[in-house]
Amino acid sequence: MRCQPCDDVGWVCENHPDRPWLGERACNCGGAGMPCPTCNCPAEGETPRMPDGFRVEVDKNGWRN
Ligand SMILES: [Zn+2]
Ligand SMILES: [Zn+2]
Repeated sequence: MRCQPCDDVGWVCENHPDRPWLGERACNCGGAGMPCPTCNCPAEGETPRMPDGFRVEVDKNGWRN
């Protein structure tokens, strides 16, 4: 089942909360991303689920220079 606004990415565009922040339909407005209010709404004090692609990019670049 897919989340309509975020395409199951878990993150939406901050300026356009009905568009995914990553993936095929990702918003290109350059706005920041925010957790999808529909499917990625963490309880207080919990971290929102990070999108898969995001994690891969961090892995690829690494934390060292
Ligand atoms: Zn946008
Ligand atoms: Zn969602």
